[in-house]
Amino acid sequence: MTAMKQSRRERRQAERMLNNMWDLVLNNPKHGVCCICGKPYHNHGNNARPFMNGRCCNECDSKYVIPYRLLHYEEYQAQMPLSEMEVNYNLEKAKAG
Ligand SMILES: [Zn+2]
Repeated sequence: MTAMKQSRRERRQAERMLNNMWDLVLNNPKHGVCCICGKPYHNHGNNARPFMNGRCCNECDSKYVIPYRLLHYEEYQAQMPLSEMEVNYNLEKAKAG
């Protein structure tokens, strides 16, 4: 029934929120090195998923991550971590321009 579907969706949303909170607490230092270009980032950087597993600078976020999210929206919603092969592939694509 509708009520059942609603609660399942709410639970999924709550799980996603919790995952994002854990991501913030555990994997979100204030300063770090961009996982895409290797330059330092400040103010916690940005979540680079699903383009990369890690955090990136603002420049790479707008150049690679946001366009990639629009093309791979379902992967992004599912919060699936990338395999090493996918990470390397994306990195090479980014470096190639
Ligand atoms: Zn960068």
